[in-house]
Amino acid sequence: MAVERTLSIIKPDATRRNLTGKIIAKFEDAGLKVVASRRMRLSQADAEAFYGVHKERPFFKDLVSFMVSGPVVVQVLEGEGAIQKNRDVMGATNPANAAAGTIRKEFAESIEANSVHGSDAPETAANEIKFFFRDLDIVG
Ligand code: ADP
Ligand code: MG
Repeated sequence: MAVERTLSIIKPDATRRNLTGKIIAKFEDAGLKVVASRRMRLSQADAEAFYGVHKERPFFKDLVSFMVSGPVVVQVLEGEGAIQKNRDVMGATNPANAAAGTIRKEFAESIEANSVHGSDAPETAANEIKFFFRDLDIVG
């Protein structure tokens, strides 16, 4: 399988509870490498643009409010099959459906405050990485 890069975000519910290290350990234990990372506060415009694909969904407004409610950690993960591997380590969107050992099973508070974001396909991964990082910021 090819080496890929994917965009990961540690969400405000997790930074608020000081869980960044525990979450990053899950990625590293699965063979994913953090090749770029920044702690930041999303603006309203950033969050609306990033989640633009969901703008017609009933939860969009709440999701944007949640994502700007505290710091996030945006990061690029690299590894064999990184896009799917990250999704596997994250677990299902709703923590009630997430498998044992996944980040969302262990740490998520709710379907909305579910601790992590991960790109869902090669094209979205490329676009989401570009949204936050310049090529120079990514060091494999
Ligand atoms: P994922 O993050 O697993 O790719 P989606 O892309 O479907 O999930 O949704 C983006 C984010 O929107 C979720 O991670 C979650 O924070 C929020 N979300 C999704 N579905 C709901 C819902 N039914 N109610 C509230 N928030 C939701
Ligand atoms: Mg998604």
